[in-house]
Amino acid sequence: QQETPKKTKFGPLADQDRIFTNLYGRHDWRLKGALRRGDWYKTKEILDKGVDWILNEVKVSGLRGRGGAGFPTGMKWSFMNKPSDGRYRCKFLIMRHDPHKLIEGCLVAGRAMGARAAYIYIRGEFYNESSNLQVAINEAYAAGLIGRNACGSGYDFDVYVMRGAGAYICGEETALIESIEGKQGKPRLKPPFPADVGVFGCPTTVANVETVAVAPTICRRGGSWFLSFGRERNSGTKLFNISGHVNNPCTVEEEMSIPLKELIERHAGGVRGGWDNLLCVIPGGSSTPLIPRHVCDTVLMDFDALIQAQTGLGTAALIVMDKSTDVIRAIARLIEFYKHESCGQCTPCREGVDWMNKMMWRFVKGDAQSAEIDMIWEISKQIEGHTICALGDGAAWPVQGLIRHFRPLMESRIADFKPKQQAHA
Ligand code: SF4
Repeated sequence: QQETPKKTKFGPLADQDRIFTNLYGRHDWRLKGALRRGDWYKTKEILDKGVDWILNEVKVSGLRGRGGAGFPTGMKWSFMNKPSDGRYRCKFLIMRHDPHKLIEGCLVAGRAMGARAAYIYIRGEFYNESSNLQVAINEAYAAGLIGRNACGSGYDFDVYVMRGAGAYICGEETALIESIEGKQGKPRLKPPFPADVGVFGCPTTVANVETVAVAPTICRRGGSWFLSFGRERNSGTKLFNISGHVNNPCTVEEEMSIPLKELIERHAGGVRGGWDNLLCVIPGGSSTPLIPRHVCDTVLMDFDALIQAQTGLGTAALIVMDKSTDVIRAIARLIEFYKHESCGQCTPCREGVDWMNKMMWRFVKGDAQSAEIDMIWEISKQIEGHTICALGDGAAWPVQGLIRHFRPLMESRIADFKPKQQAHA
């Protein structure tokens, strides 16, 4: 049997292969613009092909959840596809600029799960986005695309927008469910998993909007089309959000597995002051451990490569830091954020993240003992995996990344602090 040749070149993604982002910056998000871009095209045929066909295309595509965990989407959606007395529901997170793609995605994903309704959960602060979304939903109802007999398929499907009150923790699936039910956004212990007992006690799947919004395109162009991008187990196109010390911060859609360096240089105008001025990158949003420059030189932007580099793809929201950054302070600021956002239900997170926060601000000044570096590492290990939800892990990992790659810097700051103190005395 012939070996599959290893792919060595990724991207640039041709315009016709972009699912999102061509639109960003232009204001054609209404139904007319969406139809021009190919949304809602042959949706009835997709629905008519039925649950198994849709699930199969999504499985063939190799799509993995875009919210951070990277769970195989086809498998996750099939958990819901079983008989129940309750009404099926599904809900999704945030969407900004492309509301019709998301609404159509809700319908297709809902059909695959046997769901009757989707709740799109969006942070309350994102007023313009939720307002656009509601306008788009109204347009879709008026055009008969959703609601009773959606797209003329004989299938009824409702879409609701739920505005949260701005808690980060409400991105966690069970906290999100609690919030929809009108309670405080505090994560639930699992099991039972939402696929068995979710919102209002009904089977529920919570999915990231990017995952949901690509489903119609996958069905229209075929799972194997999506599979042809990226590499094995890391297929498809992906939205990358590049911020920090780059010349052109942006959100861009690229092929999965594109090298990190190429992504930054091709789309974000490179690192401020040139690649040699790079200190480190947080590759997947605040909870993923940073990676230093020598790792950034070669690492690919996908689930498996970043796990191998002891970090993660997360939501692919890169934070680029150049050599002017005080990286200890940057991580301290992140831990302060997690301390603020902890819901306080479980001790390792509530107490541990608070301790880490206090220690990190002392490390920023250098006002600590070297032994405390091992101590904060141990605290982070005691938090990781010992909490109800992943927020605890998300707070522990940035500290671990800092120690893994910048321990000498932490030690030298401690060493530098003491003489100053003595001088003052
Ligand atoms: Fe709340 Fe933190 Fe426990 Fe999650 S890990 S349930 S945020 S206390």
